[in-house]
Amino acid sequence: MNLILMGLPGAGKGTQAEKIVEKYKIPHISTGDMFRLAIKEGTELGAKAKSFMDKGELVPDEVTIGIVRERISKDDCANGFLLDGFPRTVAQAEALENLLNEMNQQVDSVIHVDVPKDMLVQRLTGRRICPTCGATYHVIYNPPKQEGICDKDGAELIQRDDDKPETVTKRLEVNIEQTEPMLDFYRNKGYLFTINGDQEINKVFQDINGKLKDLA
Ligand SMILES: [Zn+2]
Repeated sequence: MNLILMGLPGAGKGTQAEKIVEKYKIPHISTGDMFRLAIKEGTELGAKAKSFMDKGELVPDEVTIGIVRERISKDDCANGFLLDGFPRTVAQAEALENLLNEMNQQVDSVIHVDVPKDMLVQRLTGRRICPTCGATYHVIYNPPKQEGICDKDGAELIQRDDDKPETVTKRLEVNIEQTEPMLDFYRNKGYLFTINGDQEINKVFQDINGKLKDLA
């Protein structure tokens, strides 16, 4: 089962990825892990990718897609894979289609964990950090016993600049702009499953599972 997982920051993609790979016994392939592995194994493409990354440049698509090919050709992908963070653009999605065609394979499903933007802002801006011990809290999901105060050492909690509403909203908007064309691409192919991510974690997984069990 060849799957792609999509969702905005804060949508709970990581949690769902863990559940999917455990249930369906397929590897979770995140872009970062894939590059790290290629570099560690010292493949030619890994070395190429590293040369761009070291210069702080984007790795060109032909290198990235080559690394995807290497990764999904490995034995642990015999039953499929869950791609996370790739593709990032329609050009990469098209390249992936071609690659899988060559391998006599296909994308079976694109799972889009959908959470309304307002809810994501609420999730992403709720984080609070203790400047003394580094403990993290969330005003809704993991609040300290006393509002604004670290449970461990009584220090006053802070909100990082990255978690401020303006920054979070801007980041989400950039992401939405990048993601929409790809969602359309897969919607037109008929692969896209949109799952309501604004529910209990287990309910979200139940919905994903309901879609996937027909494919397994
Ligand atoms: Zn603390």
